[in-house]
This record gives sequence, C-alpha cells and structure tokens, in this order.
Amino acid sequence: MKSRPFTDWPAGVASALCMTFDLDAETMWTSRDPTSVRRPAVMSQGRYDVEEGLASVLDLLDVNGISTTFFVPSDVATTHPASVLEIQTRGHEVACHGTDHMPLEDPTPQAEREMLTRATDTIASIIGEAPVGYRAPLYSVTDTTWEILADLGYRYSSNMMDSIHPYLHDAGVVEMPVHWALDDGVYFLIAFHPPNYRKPTAPSLVSEIWSGELAAIAGRGGLMTLTLHPQLIGRPARIGVLQDVLDAAVAHGGVWMPRLRDLADHVNPASRHVVFGTTPPA
Ligand SMILES: [Zn+2]
Repeated sequence: MKSRPFTDWPAGVASALCMTFDLDAETMWTSRDPTSVRRPAVMSQGRYDVEEGLASVLDLLDVNGISTTFFVPSDVATTHPASVLEIQTRGHEVACHGTDHMPLEDPTPQAEREMLTRATDTIASIIGEAPVGYRAPLYSVTDTTWEILADLGYRYSSNMMDSIHPYLHDAGVVEMPVHWALDDGVYFLIAFHPPNYRKPTAPSLVSEIWSGELAAIAGRGGLMTLTLHPQLIGRPARIGVLQDVLDAAVAHGGVWMPRLRDLADHVNPASRHVVFGTTPPA
C-alpha cells in the first residue's frame, strides 16, 4: 500500500524537477562484467566520470544556481573521495547508491541490511554525515528495502516507476519516482558487446524527449526525476541537453528544483507520522 500522491507544493510552486546524478565511475562497468578490471579501456569509460564528466556537470549546476543530489556507491566514495567531497563542498547532497553497484545476488533481507549498513557507514565516514536517500543499483529494490532504510535513518528512496508524484511507503520513507525514459543510460550508454552495443542517440532527440516530459509532468503537477550519469551526459555534445531541460522548466514556470533531501523534508516533515494533504507547505 502506498499513500495517495503528494501534490501539496509550497506557495508559488506547482511541480518539481530533480536532476539527480549517479556517480557510478568504474563500478558501472565492473558491476556488469567483473573481468572489466583487466581491460583498461573499458575501465577508462568509468573514470571519465571523475576526470571530465563531473566537472562539466558541477559547472552547469553552478551557472544555473542549482543544488541537487548525487547518488554514490560506497566503493566509488572510497576510490574517489576527493570527487565526492567536492560534490558536497559545492552544495549538493551525497546520497547512497549501494556498495559495488552489483544488484544483490542473494537478496535476503539480512544480506540487503548488511549491504546497506556497510554502504551507509562507509559514505558517512567520508562525508561526515549519514546519507538520507537511497537509489539501488539498477533500481534493484526488494520488498523489504524500505523497512531497512527506515531502520537505518533514511528519509527517502528513488527507485520506483509507479507514479509521477512523490509518495510515502508504509515504512515512512518517501518515494521519489523515476522512469527509464528519464534515465540517460537508455540513450547514451554504449558498450562494445551486447546488450549495449548500439548507436548513440542524438542529443537533440533527448532534449526533445525530456523537454516534452517536463512540460507534461509539470502540467500535471508532478515530479520529474532525471537519473543522470556524468560519464554519459557529461560528454561535450550532451551536457547542453540539461541546459535545454532547465530552460524548459524556467519557461514553464512554477517548477521547484530542490535536492531530493529537501523535497523529502517538505513531503514528510514529521518523518513517519504525516498523512498527506494535512501538512501545510513549508
Ligand atoms: Zn548506477
């Protein structure tokens, strides 16, 4: 059971756009094929995240005055702590994206709890505070994910595809829905081997698709959560897609662009005890 969708936006706001980033780095490739570690060129695609893509993304966010959310696997935080700290220093939220980016092989509640505890502790030790948001690698949540998240102090999840509005799981964790059509991996992830051996998508087409999604979702008072990867959207010819979407949001009007943790605080300010529709806007 989930609560009815949240539509109680702050004054002057009628919808929201959250440009979220998953800093998968090398784990994007090792999680798909562990033997990637022996292939420097394959691994270099992941390293583009921290060598080039992240800088492009952070600069674009600075220019537009936007603070947003970056989901980071704890292995990436350990390997690239300076990048993760720069994300935090420049005003963005660092949230949890698992440990090694592998979907759980044996997704028992105990294995999932251990994985999430390890990921949380590692990220907290690097950024100095516990993450409050979780996106599972490849959105691979289980029936018990939200109870575990609530026990570990998490405020929100961003994994489900059943709404265009934030909503509340029974465990008291806010859901920030996503969708494959709003994930840059669908358009820009290219590998030499199947299933991702494919032609790149023209950035202009992605601009058109996402600007259309923005107008339609905002028109219904919803939340558009983009799932982005600096190693994909941070290529020189692609970063402009994000500016196009931001421009579309500004032109639409009334579109709030918060960090997900700020949106979670607004949706559910009293954590587990709020019935939607009874909470005044912040
Ligand atoms: Zn990922």
